[in-house]
Amino acid sequence: MEPEKTICVVGSLNVDLVATASRIPARGETILASSFAIRFGGKGANQAVACRILGIQTNLLAKIGNDDYGRQAMERLADYSVNTSMVTKAELEPTGLALIVVEDETGENIITVVSGANVRFSSEDVLRHRFAILSCSICLLQLEIPLDTVRKTIEIAKRENVKVILNPAPFQLLDDKILSGIDILVPNKLELESLLDLHIPDSKCYSNDESEIGAMLHVVDRLQRKFQNLALVITLGKRGCIVCPQIESKHFEAFLIEPYISTPHAVDTTGAGDCFCGALAVGLIEYGNLLEAARFANIAAGISVTRQGTQESYPSREQVEYLLT
Ligand code: ADP
Repeated sequence: MEPEKTICVVGSLNVDLVATASRIPARGETILASSFAIRFGGKGANQAVACRILGIQTNLLAKIGNDDYGRQAMERLADYSVNTSMVTKAELEPTGLALIVVEDETGENIITVVSGANVRFSSEDVLRHRFAILSCSICLLQLEIPLDTVRKTIEIAKRENVKVILNPAPFQLLDDKILSGIDILVPNKLELESLLDLHIPDSKCYSNDESEIGAMLHVVDRLQRKFQNLALVITLGKRGCIVCPQIESKHFEAFLIEPYISTPHAVDTTGAGDCFCGALAVGLIEYGNLLEAARFANIAAGISVTRQGTQESYPSREQVEYLLT
């Protein structure tokens, strides 16, 4: 019997401390919050949860601090059955934290991120746990950890032809060694602009939606000429995504859940990109084809934006498959 396919996510783990208040405090001011919540995130942890909820065995390689927040994050990941046995602990740095104040009425926020243990996640950590990568069919990466660690992960994955998907968020300049080791790059529109060092005008500048997507497809062709052998999936928020599996690009409109779900519009798009990336990896395992995988991911992320929260909003395999048919 063929061994069960596994995804290895190598990335960040954060705990969000979220206070809601009637307004965002001014400099030097103290105000009282109306509510408080602890949420679990970090792009690495989010993408691992998305993969696992969609039914695929998932290893997470990440680094936490030796503190309660780190322990709570581990418990949460265990609830989702993500394999965290290779998550390492930094002795001196705290678990990555985001301190967030959200204004009640507008939803506007201010955020301070303490990268903490994420910046101590080193290439030695990855090397020590290389079997967690080598035993997988897909390795999924983002850029909230040091670039050296990303580089080492790609080097290890390439030894056994493990497929590498990189979500270049938050954007950092990528060298040729990284770009040549990636199989699939998944930027959003802003990250695509940074990669090509150009500005793509927004929808207001086009006579209709089709010409906007036409212009995007043109840009994608340019990117592919620049980085040959790289497959691309560009996420476009409420405009869906563009898939370019090396020969011909295709646009998928964002998934409209109107006929099926009572809340037909997006209520919270936080973490939609992470849901998309996790689901893309799962879709590739399931269908072995990038176009089918992107259709699956577009539906999974489309469902997630109709629900509040990040990891809490990610759909199960059954929910996605029900809408796929
Ligand atoms: P990021 O969160 O990384 O900026 P995007 O905003 O491009 O990523 O969103 C990722 C994916 O989530 C999109 O490609 C789409 O599938 C889905 N999505 C995001 N916003 C919406 C929306 N308003 N309606 C439906 N789907 C959405």
